[in-house]
Amino acid sequence: MARARGGVWTNWTGDQRCAPSSVVRPGTEEELVAAVGRAVAEGRTVRAVGAGHSFTDCACTDGVMIDLSRMQRVLAVDPGRCRVTVQGGARLHALGPQLAAHGLALENQGDVDRQSIAGAIATATHGTGARFPNLAAQAAGLRLVTAAGEVLDLDEDADRDAYLASRVSLGALGVVSAVTLQCVPAYTLHRRDAPEPLGDVLERLDEHVDAHEHFEFFVFPYTRTALTRRTRRSAAEPSPPPRWRRLLQEEVVENAGLGLACRAGRRLPRLVPALDRLIAAAMSSAEVEDVSHRVYATRRAVRFTEMEYAIPRAHAREAIERVLALVERRRLPILFPLEVRFSAADDAFLSTAHARESCYVAVHQYRGMEFEAYFRAVEAIMDDFGGRPHWGKRHYQRAATLRERYPRWDAFQAVRARLDPGGTFANDYTRRTLGA
Ligand SMILES: Cc1cc2nc3c(=O)[nH]c(=O)nc-3n(C[C@H](O)[C@H](O)[C@H](O)COP(=O)(O)OP(=O)(O)OC[C@H]3O[C@@H](n4cnc5c(N)ncnc54)[C@H](O)[C@@H]3O)c2cc1C
Repeated sequence: MARARGGVWTNWTGDQRCAPSSVVRPGTEEELVAAVGRAVAEGRTVRAVGAGHSFTDCACTDGVMIDLSRMQRVLAVDPGRCRVTVQGGARLHALGPQLAAHGLALENQGDVDRQSIAGAIATATHGTGARFPNLAAQAAGLRLVTAAGEVLDLDEDADRDAYLASRVSLGALGVVSAVTLQCVPAYTLHRRDAPEPLGDVLERLDEHVDAHEHFEFFVFPYTRTALTRRTRRSAAEPSPPPRWRRLLQEEVVENAGLGLACRAGRRLPRLVPALDRLIAAAMSSAEVEDVSHRVYATRRAVRFTEMEYAIPRAHAREAIERVLALVERRRLPILFPLEVRFSAADDAFLSTAHARESCYVAVHQYRGMEFEAYFRAVEAIMDDFGGRPHWGKRHYQRAATLRERYPRWDAFQAVRARLDPGGTFANDYTRRTLGA
């Protein structure tokens, strides 16, 4: 959870910090509009913040920080159309059970659920599944508070360009006060994890991705073992694992075990390849069948920083092999696996999957360990494939290198110039990545 203490705000990892001139926590849309109006009148910039789960400085500001943690309510439910309107600060982990109470669920989710809905949408947060687009594509409508003090209702029929721009906005167009989510009837998911030879997985990658609703895998450097995760919709009733088993798997194996290895690797980096091989050898098969929101989300207690790139799916295999070869060639001390996921194309102007089916390759480093040389080298590989960086994860791109990767870049900028002509919602991150 991100914190604002002693005037200093930090993100989840604890490595992005800023000192906002003030932090405002509106409880209603009226209070939100008033807070934006006050900031504009005083000539200050404004940044909305969700759960602080971004690895970049995208939520940082030295102006007014608007924290939406008091705006988490469900505002309306339309069971006939499977649509639910929630306030922008609603946390995904609270939303799961709230939707389930109405017989509904999100169509797809990422692997943690601590984020706010508006924050997750703003950076194109995604899960995995070649037929499923990211979370922002599940936003059928948004209510946006602009610098002019207007509250705009945006959807396919009302100001379509502003809707396609504000679905993935980096917070640069205004503050999202509420989101209408296109949900689906509640469902059970069956998930099977299994270690498999990496060569076999890569050989038949397209087959795996197309045959399973949600396919992903993790591979530790210095090993040739992939932990595959296949998740599918199931007609069975949910059968949640006993609490002790979940605790054993998530807390002891995935969090305490990884934390121990990371601390050892940070003290003695030359042990890292052996530790990676040890962890990979200890990976075992597991199955779970439960309501969807409990299967998608896992708990991450070990703090890390991350870079993730979206590349055209056709280049997945080559990109993965090149990143693994890079780590081994340079003997880099990397104790986290590469995470490989897939998503359908969508139409939001700045979606990392805009108009192309995508493979996401994520690399991580334990908090407090050197990451920049590794991440820059990975970025150079991804550049060869026209990679688009996850907006909420570390990268070194600038507007000049990004604009050619987004066919609707100029359309986004036109909406930005119209809705935020004075740069009220700018910060260092948007100036770097979107231009002044
Ligand atoms: C442990 C962990 C696991 C993760 N797993 C995944 C994953 O599986 N898939 C994935 O794609 N990403 C993942 N992420 C990244 C994360 O989903 C994104 O960075 C997301 O944006 C964080 O949401 P947040 O609510 O914390 O937003 P913040 O980090 O607080 O803000 C993100 C951006 O949204 C803007 N914003 C926030 N609220 C509003 C609002 N109301 N109106 C306008 N703009 C707003 C902010 O200004 C900022 O630019 C993970 C991150 C962590 C730390």
